[in-house]
Amino acid sequence: MAGALIRKIIHVDMDAFYASVEQRDNPHLRGKPVAVGHGARRGVVAAASYEARQFGVRSALPSVTALRQCPDLIFVPPRFDVYRAVSQQIHGIFAEFTDLIEPLALDEAYLDVTENRAGIETAWLTAKAIRARILEETGLNASAGVSYNKFLAKLASGRRKPNGQFAIQPHEGEAFVEALPIAKFHGVGPATAEKMHRLGIHTGADLKAWSLSDLQARFGKSGGWYFNIARSVDQRAVNTSRERKSSGSETTFNEDLRDADAIRQGVLAMADDVWAWCEKSGRRARTVTVKIKWADFQQSTRSRSLAQPVVGRAQLHEASLALIDSVLPAPKGVRLVGVTLSNFTVDLAKVEAEPTLHLESDAA
Ligand SMILES: [Mg+2]
Repeated sequence: MAGALIRKIIHVDMDAFYASVEQRDNPHLRGKPVAVGHGARRGVVAAASYEARQFGVRSALPSVTALRQCPDLIFVPPRFDVYRAVSQQIHGIFAEFTDLIEPLALDEAYLDVTENRAGIETAWLTAKAIRARILEETGLNASAGVSYNKFLAKLASGRRKPNGQFAIQPHEGEAFVEALPIAKFHGVGPATAEKMHRLGIHTGADLKAWSLSDLQARFGKSGGWYFNIARSVDQRAVNTSRERKSSGSETTFNEDLRDADAIRQGVLAMADDVWAWCEKSGRRARTVTVKIKWADFQQSTRSRSLAQPVVGRAQLHEASLALIDSVLPAPKGVRLVGVTLSNFTVDLAKVEAEPTLHLESDAA
């Protein structure tokens, strides 16, 4: 890896985020098994508190099954507006330490602290300081993974959950990845994991035994990525342009969702983000696109072009809901939803006043 840049990356991940927010805001829920989601006959668990997890209650579990496993389970409906507000608070805390922030979901982000604003010497101590600030300001626990690239930092953050942190040092990366089951690799979805299992690839060490050309022959463009991560090489920079307030906004749910109301709320939250951007930038657009990434990593998009630009938040809500409703009830779990506006009518005066806005949409 001569000449390769060694970064200091932290992956911060809130613990049982939705459920923890509910327990924070309602003292009656503390210490009890809580499921965020709808307890109705066709409902599905969106997130579970640690108390509920002890009974095997997990995301995507049908509510009836969850109740059978844990008769005292308390269902609370999701409040995405609150989760978004907490997420913004957390991002404010990240910004006290670095500008290089890449949000992955409401409760998860990569931070590059190679040079950190607080002048803290190590990434380990920086992660501790960030987690302490999050607890102080939000009353919530976060876990963190610390390493020299994003791939390893994300793997590390799960190792000491809840309320812990774990580091993978540069000399430890290769051994860590060699021992790792292939299904745990970020970027290896269930379908790819199955294909790898059929090829006899079960761990990072198995993957490492494959040549670049063989991997490319079997997996196409992804072959290069698999070749690199088998050696714990990941040169991706923390991508700060993944700004939430842009013409496109998307979120990966904490847990795959099937509940129609929860999915619709997620879409509305993204529409709100996009509308906030419209108001700030003075841009208006005619085409609304809703993107859905399913639990099996397949993707669907639904678009609708209006005769006139969208002029208000309610109108964007209405268009976005009509689009998401066209794929509901969800035939499988929903991993991610996004809302994007395109076909702009340009307001040049306002655009010039906001030269740093990112106008590219994820759908591009
Ligand atoms: Mg989390």
